[in-house]
Amino acid sequence: MVTMEKIVSLCKRRGFIAPSSEIYGGFESCYDYGFLGALLKNNIKQNWWKTMTQYRDDIVGVDASILMSPKVWQASGHLTAGFADPLVECINCHKRFRKDHLKDKDRCPDCGHEPLGKERKFNLMMKTFIGPVEDEAAVTYLRGETCQGIYMNYQFMRDAMRMKVPFGIAQIGKAFRNEITPRYFIFKTREFEQMEMQYFVEPDEKEKKKLFDYWKKERMKWYLGLGVKKENLRFREHQKDELAHYAKKAVDIEYKFPWGWDEIEGIHDRGDWDLSNHSKHSGQDLSYFDEQTKNKFIPHIIETSAGADRAVLTFLVEAYDEVKGGRTETTESKKESEVVLRLNKELAPIKVTILPLVKNKKDLVKKAKEVYGLLKFHWMCQYDEVGSIGRRYRRGDEIAVPFVITIDFDSLKNDDVTVRDRDTMKQERIKIKELVDYLREKLGE
Ligand code: ATP
Repeated sequence: MVTMEKIVSLCKRRGFIAPSSEIYGGFESCYDYGFLGALLKNNIKQNWWKTMTQYRDDIVGVDASILMSPKVWQASGHLTAGFADPLVECINCHKRFRKDHLKDKDRCPDCGHEPLGKERKFNLMMKTFIGPVEDEAAVTYLRGETCQGIYMNYQFMRDAMRMKVPFGIAQIGKAFRNEITPRYFIFKTREFEQMEMQYFVEPDEKEKKKLFDYWKKERMKWYLGLGVKKENLRFREHQKDELAHYAKKAVDIEYKFPWGWDEIEGIHDRGDWDLSNHSKHSGQDLSYFDEQTKNKFIPHIIETSAGADRAVLTFLVEAYDEVKGGRTETTESKKESEVVLRLNKELAPIKVTILPLVKNKKDLVKKAKEVYGLLKFHWMCQYDEVGSIGRRYRRGDEIAVPFVITIDFDSLKNDDVTVRDRDTMKQERIKIKELVDYLREKLGE
């Protein structure tokens, strides 16, 4: 069974993710992505970006700055109680908790003391200072969500890209929140990455075309298409008293993590809250004029807001598989169990490993390096000559490499190689000159 300990340990052992500033003992639930983690996260982000912008003609993308005028955050309601969590501190042990997460509201879950302290509202925005003088005039904030950067570019993109409602703007980028209780590895951290899309619609059309439901389905399809099983995903609709200050309606996509169901993406009907407020506070008219109907209105917004780090964790947990008794292709696999990371091929950080059968035969090494040299300009590949063949297969399986190519003695005579499939463990002999086309087809390109 997959546990968080196993995921965290694999991530460290195999170069996916480790605590930030580790030589200083780590830092405040911050994490660094190593090479394989960065590749995996990039593949996820690229797939999302393509799905949202390249495969559609009604959405464009932006890359807005993290620092914005503090007026943005005043207008959006982030500096007031709207973006604050209820914090309680135990008067006995001084541990802090989110009040809304406590089962027993009056007793400390850690030391059992009763009563707990008084509830305080704790604003989640991360303050910083622009320029050399640290006074109130220099205060600004690291963005708490990426969508505000989209609203700031609504007019710019609408006009410059000649977008007509309904249209969307997508963005991937870092966001920061002073979370009271970061938890579960990269699930909830203070610095994280979001993949957000804001869809601007005419209010009646939104209802008539059921655009909220449309986006719910589209987003669910994305996770399913990348290999997450249906039974591990569900929708959860927010009750009225849970809704954020801007939301008319909200549905979460939840994943069944080892600790239980939890949110990986939110789909929100934000009504006209954002553009109305920014119109009011900036003095700019952000309404939309429809040339055909001669109708002028403030567009409503349907938002799809996914966490890139939560997506990484979701795909890792989903892909983690342990084969009891080891995989049977080699005589030496007598381990209790062996790990195979069955990531979707498009997400796999490294697509192909190339191995010479043995490393002390010059001709084999030379040929293997030639094949590596050929393939690395097409895909992220790795060359591996250390250890027995079985061990090298296992190493590939653990980091989700879909194809392993072995150069053996017949390769020297016939100019061909064996290609082993991670999931079926079947091997095929392929001519070197046909390898690129073969892999292209297998990788679904
Ligand atoms: P939660 O209830 O888990 O704190 P939220 O409802 O505040 O999340 P949203 O503001 O809707 O989250 O953010 C949209 C998405 O951004 C979330 O579904 C999640 O994937 C991601 N996200 C939000 N906060 C964090 C965080 N602290 N760490 C990692 N990802 C986050």
